Amino acid sequence: MRKKSLVWFRNDLRLADNPALAAGIGAGAILPVFVLDPAAKWGGASLWWLHHSLAALAQDCAARGATLILRRGDSTAIIPALARESGAAAVHVGRSHEPWLRGVDRAVAAALKSDDIAFERHRSALMFGPEQITNKTGGVYGVYTPFSRACFEAFTARPPIDVPERIDGIGDVASDALEDWHLLPTSPDWAGGLRETWQPGEAGAHKRLADFLDTGLDDYDKQRNLPGAPGTSMLSPHLHWGEIAIDAVWRAAEATKTKRTEGRQTFLKELVWREFAAYLLWHNDTLDTVPMRAQFADMPWRDAPDELGAWQRGQTGIPIVDAGMRQLWQTGWMHNRVRMITASFLIKHLLIPWQDGEAWFWDCLVDADAASNAASWQWVAGCGADAAPYFRIFNPVLQGLKFDPQGDYVRRFVPELAKLPNEIIHAPWDAAPDALHKAGVTLGKTYPRPLIDLATGRDRALAAYKSIGAASE
Ligand code: FAD
Repeated sequence: MRKKSLVWFRNDLRLADNPALAAGIGAGAILPVFVLDPAAKWGGASLWWLHHSLAALAQDCAARGATLILRRGDSTAIIPALARESGAAAVHVGRSHEPWLRGVDRAVAAALKSDDIAFERHRSALMFGPEQITNKTGGVYGVYTPFSRACFEAFTARPPIDVPERIDGIGDVASDALEDWHLLPTSPDWAGGLRETWQPGEAGAHKRLADFLDTGLDDYDKQRNLPGAPGTSMLSPHLHWGEIAIDAVWRAAEATKTKRTEGRQTFLKELVWREFAAYLLWHNDTLDTVPMRAQFADMPWRDAPDELGAWQRGQTGIPIVDAGMRQLWQTGWMHNRVRMITASFLIKHLLIPWQDGEAWFWDCLVDADAASNAASWQWVAGCGADAAPYFRIFNPVLQGLKFDPQGDYVRRFVPELAKLPNEIIHAPWDAAPDALHKAGVTLGKTYPRPLIDLATGRDRALAAYKSIGAASE
């Protein structure tokens, strides 16, 4: 007998390779639903992305005969009510690792059970259910390398699930209008750079993947650390919103013919870093606020709102840091190498709590992800799982010279320094007055002086880390 289902979209805004959707369609007619739940606390850039991604998904559903139902409010009330109203026998949903959804899922499951409606959660966003991967003693991995080994051994991407040709929708259910949610910025409209950079939605995700496999995969291992080169996939927001399945990306990377294997292998390892972050969040649901290593609660952080503001605006006077922060503001994304440099500068040179940086990234990133963001900030701070050692304090000048040797990246995002020669573009404060003059740079006027002397900041950070006993471990 054909049964009706409610398909609840969350971090899986796609039609291809969507097991929850396939299960619903396999049983009969479906009601596709997305709920804008205030408990999610998405940042501004995420809301911008969500608007466009939902518009694309709604269009893709409509082209196949179904209406995507949009509702705003408490998911624990809305989903059971819609399931009852539409006569669904089951609710199908992609499993999510985000802490706020755990309580939601428990409440929804209980409400549905009392109405005799099944609640079926499908593996969708991740390679595994986070509780599936355990170490030899059945415990939780705290270190990436053995975790990744276990993932590589156990994972086989599932075979493709095609986009359905037709979706038999359940009619006559009221929906909000997407425009009424006002997810896009109005005045000021800060999203111009985001519009130029991204095509949210499933089609944009597949295009991004195809481009990367064509031009980026082969030399990914060599190019991925150079922020001035288009050397990484830029798939992170598409993966975060589930516009493309992790299985689809993995399968495609494995199937692409390459001249060498190192590029592919390094890329697959990065996908496993994403998995590791989700795994850590699953086992530590306060990852975004509470340091995993307890003594970090006693770090002598500084309260320096002006310096935090200068960092946020890309006005620290350290070119590679400012380039990264401006890339973030303009495009909603920042290159991974520069995420590490800017985070290290905030936490270590400025001694500002990593949670303040995490919160800013959360608001500005189109790929803001509860797991990857929190785990990465803890990693840079030295208080997370498998974290960078406390004494590894990136020198932003040396990082710039190594990874942006021609200064292309700095010139793109800090145009006021564009005429400086390569040798001094990463440390204009060391340049001869004549060289600055020729390039039209006046420190303190056209470009800020550094917020801090780098050696002084480094010594202060090392002393702070020693004061909490980080050095004695
Ligand atoms: P690629 O190099 O092409 O990698 C492919 C995919 O692997 C990425 O799309 C991403 O899903 C995953 N990946 C790559 N590196 C990492 C990593 N270090 N940790 C987890 N997953 C990874 N990533 C997010 O998706 N969301 C975040 O909110 C986020 N915040 C970060 C904050 C800081 C301080 C740092 C240092 C890193 C953060 N990252 C975050 C990880 C990483 O910077 C981005 O995933 C990467 O830059 C995305 O670009 P890409 O898609 O071109 O990556």
